Amino acid sequence: MTRRLRSVGILGVRVDDVTLAEALELAAGWLEGDRPRLVVTPNAEFVMRAQWDPAFRKVLNRADLAIPDGFGLVWASRVLGNPIREQVPGTDFAEGLVRLAGDRYRVFFLGAGPGVAAAAARRLQARYPGLRVAGAYPGSPHPEADPEVLGVLEAARPIDILLVAYGAPKQELWLWRNLGRVGAKIGVGVGGAFDFLSGRVPRAPAWLRRAGFDWAFRLAVQPWRWRRQLALPAFALRVLWHRLSGRRAPDRPFPGEEQ
Ligand code: UDP
Repeated sequence: MTRRLRSVGILGVRVDDVTLAEALELAAGWLEGDRPRLVVTPNAEFVMRAQWDPAFRKVLNRADLAIPDGFGLVWASRVLGNPIREQVPGTDFAEGLVRLAGDRYRVFFLGAGPGVAAAAARRLQARYPGLRVAGAYPGSPHPEADPEVLGVLEAARPIDILLVAYGAPKQELWLWRNLGRVGAKIGVGVGGAFDFLSGRVPRAPAWLRRAGFDWAFRLAVQPWRWRRQLALPAFALRVLWHRLSGRRAPDRPFPGEEQ
């Protein structure tokens, strides 16, 4: 795809106005390219953290692609007068990449709880026969563990696509530090995707996600998330406050934080 990405700034965080199909088309080109590409999956929680965590915000704004994982971002872009077209859940993008990989590209599953990455890989292999799993390993997102994890990845080469499930911001910081050393063409922070793809955690039905109520379903199946989810009303209030004070979502808004 030659066209330039259209990006929108939501409270200082870049979100790209891509559909799932467009994001996968970009990824297909990158798999043939010659440098690693970092994909992030911002949602309302990411944006709230980025308000006070400049290192995280920098990675989000400098990534090669920032897909709108959360419905909250689609809502905010509309409220702030610069709408993006659709939500692109990170889990769907991860599965799309696996489909795209076919029997041609090798995928590594890094992160999540013990056995979860391997279970996700097995399930996907059953769904997409021919899928080439380079490996699956929980590892640890802490910088002290980098040499050990990089050793495991080194032994698993070649790796074309690296999916990293350490939750935000650890997975983004991990990729920022290490993606260049892995040799993969695409690295993606996928959050809870392995939990869903392995079948360990049920995913909200599509109609509920489309209606913007993913958070309610997640709260029902993982009630301990309530504290984290306080970021959602805080995000909504902040967006409404911006709107009331006459600000809109700019197109390319990040002085010093662009590529
Ligand atoms: N995780 C991990 N190590 C950590 C922190 C998180 O492997 O130090 C995993 C966790 O098991 C889960 C994933 O990271 O599979 C992200 O989980 P969460 O649901 O919090 O992600 P979200 O999509 O909400 O960012």
